[in-house]
Order: sequence, then structure tokens, then C-alpha cells
Amino acid sequence: MAEHPLLGGIEAGGTKFVCAVGTGPNDLRALARFPTTTPDETLSRVIDFFQKQPEPIAALGIGSFGPVDPDPASPTYGYITTTPKPGWAHTDVAGTLRRALNVPVAFDTDVNAAALGEHRWGAGRGLHTFVYLTIGTGIGGGAIVNGRRHHGHQHPEMGHLLIPRLPDDNRPGICPFHGDCLEGLASGPAIAARWGRPAPELPPSHPAWDQVAHYLALGLTNLILTLSPQRLILGGGVMHQTHLFPRLRQKVAACLNGYVTLPDLETFIVPPALGDRAGVLGALALAEEVLA
Ligand code: ADP
Ligand code: ZN
Repeated sequence: MAEHPLLGGIEAGGTKFVCAVGTGPNDLRALARFPTTTPDETLSRVIDFFQKQPEPIAALGIGSFGPVDPDPASPTYGYITTTPKPGWAHTDVAGTLRRALNVPVAFDTDVNAAALGEHRWGAGRGLHTFVYLTIGTGIGGGAIVNGRRHHGHQHPEMGHLLIPRLPDDNRPGICPFHGDCLEGLASGPAIAARWGRPAPELPPSHPAWDQVAHYLALGLTNLILTLSPQRLILGGGVMHQTHLFPRLRQKVAACLNGYVTLPDLETFIVPPALGDRAGVLGALALAEEVLA
């Protein structure tokens, strides 16, 4: 085996698949994006992309939207399982790609992959327990616990933590499963639905942001109380509103009210060091793990 084998990574998202070839963040040889259409069409494009590379990859990592089956011992390992996304329920993503590309494949949730990427090359380096949360079209969280990607019976769904609505907030949350949950109240589409404008158009002074920070702070507080993470890494489109970081630090500290000690808040609640590439780089890190 070469010292730095060439790796393939896929961030399989509900709107786009991002594919990369390389050995790490400073050696990305190819990067491509394909819209998520039908499984057949999307996976064919992905296979074509990897087959056309000048050098073959030694292993492939996939971080996928879900719910997924991340248990290597399960007969449906590597499947997207019960997703409401039309056409994608019970799709064998990892198996299809392994058979077509004939390489070992590692598979996990998109957010666990992003957490792994941050652990390997980003803001989670040197930590044993931390959470990566994305706040975008949906909200999802991955966790490294005791140095390993955390799974359970299936995998955590931190975006659906149930959140009490503020007394003066009379707009129900939009989650089709729970109404008022973190994703139903504070994801990009939730913000747009609640305020009648796309989230990126709301200026930092808009009252929406104080409300979003409140709901996110409740979610983060519950994650802190459950996992005692050494750091919370917050990515996704909504966190491009960088004024949310100081608001969240202040509100999380207020919610906890001195009950638990926290690390320095400036280094506790941070953006991903790998930025919007955490997911696809995490997929490369997954591929690296499968060769280790
Ligand atoms: P996805 O979650 O689909 O992978 P993103 O993480 O980019 O993709 O999240 C997209 C969501 O984030 C959309 O709802 C979009 O409106 C919102 N968003 C993107 N950029 C911003 C921004 N600068 N400010 C606020 N919301 C944003
Ligand atoms: Zn929900």
C-alpha cells in the first residue's frame, strides 16, 4: 500500500452529491457536484466521475443524508433507509458504489463524516468528545465520543430535539414529524417560513436572529448536558450568519446558569475549520479509516 493512498469521498446530500479525490485538504485532485435526482441517475454520474479519474482510488468514504443504516454488521449497511425524500427510501448506496468501483467502502451519516473530517484535519483535532452540528436545509448532528464516531441503535438525530416555543411566538414549527423541534423552528426553511423571507436576506438586526439563537441555544444546552462535549462545531448555511456565534455563547452560558463548568466559550462554540468542505473531506477521512 502506498504511504498516502488516493482516496475517494462523497458527501451525499438531499440536494447535491459532492465528490472528491485526494489524500486530504491540501491535496484535493478533483472535486465535482451533481444534483440529487433519482438514485439511478445520481449514482451513475458519481460512478462515472470516479471511473474517469487518471489514477484509481484505493478506498471510498460516503457521508450520507438519512436516515441511514450505519451498522457494518447489518444486512442493510450502507442503505439510505426510511427517508421521506421521493425515490430514495431503501437505496443501497454503499453496495452499489462498491460493486461498480470495486474498492472498500466506508459509510456513515453526513454529519458523522463531517465530525470525522474536523477530527482529522479541523477544529476537532486533539479532542476525544465533541459534536458537529449543521444548521442548513435541515439540522443534523454527528458526534465523536471517546475518539470514535458515535452510533447507537441507529444514529442520533440531534436536529429533532424537542424545543418549547417562546410564549410570544405563535408560529408553529414546520417539522412534518414534530412541529416544534430544533429543525422545525431554526433550520433555513423554518426561518424563511416563519418570517416570510429567505433566511440569507434577513439583516443581522432582524428579530428573527435573536429567536433563532434562543432555539439553537436550547438545543446546544441539551447536547452539552447529555454528552459533555469538549467543543461544539456549528456549520451549515445558516451559520454563515456569523453574528450567531457570540449570541449562542452568551445564551448557552445563560441557559446552563453556572451548573456545569465550560471551556473558554470562544473556543467552545466555533465554526468548522474546514468550512463547507467538512462533509466531503470527512468522507475522505472515512475512506482513510477503512484502509487503516
Ligand atoms: P444543505 O443543508 O442543503 O446541505 P446549506 O448548509 O448550504 O445546505 O443550507 C442551506 C440553507 O441555509 C438554506 O435554507 C439557506 O436559506 C440557508 N442559508 C444559506 N446561506 C445563508 C446565509 N448567509 N444566511 C442565512 N441562511 C443561509
Ligand atoms: Zn422534527
